[in-house]
Amino acid sequence: MSAPFATPPEAHADGAGLAHRQIVVLGSGPAGLTAAIYTARANLMPLVFAGEPSSTGDQPGGQLMLTTEVENYPGFVDGILGPELMNRFESQAKRFGADVVQERALRVDLTTRPFLIWGSGGGSGPPTTSADALIVATGARSLMLGVPGEDRLLGHGVSTCATCDGFFFREQDIAVVGGGDSALEEALFLTRFARKVTVIHRRSELRASRIMQDRAFAHEKIELMWNTVVLEVLGESKLSGARVQDVVTGEERVISLGGLFVAIGHQPNTDLVKGQLDLTEAGYIQTFDGSFTSIPGVFACGDVQDHVYRQAITAAGSGCIAAIDAERWLEAGHHQLHKTTGTREGA
Ligand code: NAP
Repeated sequence: MSAPFATPPEAHADGAGLAHRQIVVLGSGPAGLTAAIYTARANLMPLVFAGEPSSTGDQPGGQLMLTTEVENYPGFVDGILGPELMNRFESQAKRFGADVVQERALRVDLTTRPFLIWGSGGGSGPPTTSADALIVATGARSLMLGVPGEDRLLGHGVSTCATCDGFFFREQDIAVVGGGDSALEEALFLTRFARKVTVIHRRSELRASRIMQDRAFAHEKIELMWNTVVLEVLGESKLSGARVQDVVTGEERVISLGGLFVAIGHQPNTDLVKGQLDLTEAGYIQTFDGSFTSIPGVFACGDVQDHVYRQAITAAGSGCIAAIDAERWLEAGHHQLHKTTGTREGA
């Protein structure tokens, strides 16, 4: 069923140039744009701060912009390129009336009603936008090694997600960098496809839990390369290997690889809301009852609140949840209540 875009959108600029929206979405990955599609179809005319170009996983379109083929997103039998998939999300959101601006939210004030947002288009001036409800979908970034060749070959043999890309490396020699649970989980997953998986770790002891270590040590396809760091990722348009160094002896050598997975941790993009919203111990936004956060009217979805699944499809699903939560919250008039009483109850 397609909702007609019937009533005039509740978006206006006041005398001071502050544009008001019922819903503002921060982030334009699968979570943010799904939230935009749903709230746009509910006639709430969301404004999406899509972000600004960068190469760290917080650029417009999110982490899928850094991948090539996506084969596990349902509905695309033959796979689809990550950037193409995100273009489609955006077009779909716009089709129903979402406004998507290539701006970063520089600051938000969640202590006032409506919430205030300083878009990067406004420079160092006053807030540019106010919102009755805010959906935070700023995602997370994979921590990267920061060595030469890594950026260039990301999506061309270098990956940060075994679940997403492992399938492309059948019968190849693969390395996973890292010594935590993520690295071992990725390595174990990759044994389904790879000929051999080498875990490259910078120390002589793993950080991972004992059970994961036992599983990795017991696996015939997994080899540990201890006390080793990657100095350079090699290959022109496709990964061919890595230059590594033994940090004890100082010896350098080149290893041939079909794939290199960087699994040294993730960082949620929470700088904007740190100190305003409750975060988990690991630094992710704390959500409850779906997408509610510690401040009524602020909803969170996608990787900024999920350190477990981290898939495009789960992010999209949580974007839908946030949109429905926000829509019902507005529909019930909670934002009015907060405006008049200033209370923080009633989530
Ligand atoms: P993590 O525990 O922080 O481990 C990161 C690993 O990467 C460490 O071994 C670290 O080395 C290494 N590292 C960091 N920066 C590096 C660099 N620049 N160069 C080379 N190596 C680098 O991160 P995680 O593995 O993503 O896990 C995060 C949390 O999620 C943990 O609490 C973990 O237990 C949990 N988790 C659980 C599971 C599970 O239970 N199945 C799966 C995944 C994650 P050092 O050890 O030398 O610091």
